[in-house]
Amino acid sequence: MEIFTINMGAYDVRVTRKRVKNINFRIGPHGEALMSIPLHVSHAEAERIAREHASWFERALTRSQARKGEAPVQWGTGEKLNVWGRPVTLRVLPPSETSAPCELRDDELLVRDGPSAVWRSHEVENWLQQELMAYLNDILLDRELAIGCTPTHITIRRMKTRWGSCTPSTGRIRMNTALAECPHACANTVLVHELCHLIAHDHGPRFQALMDLHCPGWRVTQRWLDDHPPRAL
Ligand SMILES: [Zn+2]
Repeated sequence: MEIFTINMGAYDVRVTRKRVKNINFRIGPHGEALMSIPLHVSHAEAERIAREHASWFERALTRSQARKGEAPVQWGTGEKLNVWGRPVTLRVLPPSETSAPCELRDDELLVRDGPSAVWRSHEVENWLQQELMAYLNDILLDRELAIGCTPTHITIRRMKTRWGSCTPSTGRIRMNTALAECPHACANTVLVHELCHLIAHDHGPRFQALMDLHCPGWRVTQRWLDDHPPRAL
């Protein structure tokens, strides 16, 4: 995966080159212009395509600003967020002072400065995803062996309303990036919840018995999660 920005004058388009079939355009949660391109599309081609879609971006950006009507988070020094349920303060460092894009040091999350707030928010988001993936990797095998099922894929992404979801027919589990902002018990509970769904598809007595067995205390964590909807970013 590779990320670069194309300056369009009044705004930037953040381009992600990755394993996708088609070129996609969208407006991100911060009102940023985003484009994803397949691996074979060159930088120059991406730039040409972005310019061809300038009027689409402009219309979409205006719509998203009108919808929001609020200033976007700037991801600047002093902003607060939670990491594993603990408040941390963001500190933006010039690239000359740090080699890591994002790094937790005591109560500060150090973020290497980039071209825009959008850039910084993606660095933070990537870092949260890595944190969550590392934690899941630590506990996954143990939970799999205990429950007796193995997911085919676990993907981590930011979801607006759900903490996790799964597709029993394919064995896929999706986990919300925002779990890395909550206490560890939350990620554990959601993982066990989705693993149990691979066996019991609804929330009936069988599911509840599995949860009681493999995640004692899940009802308390579940209530906490219900009371704290995932941050949309
Ligand atoms: Zn469920």
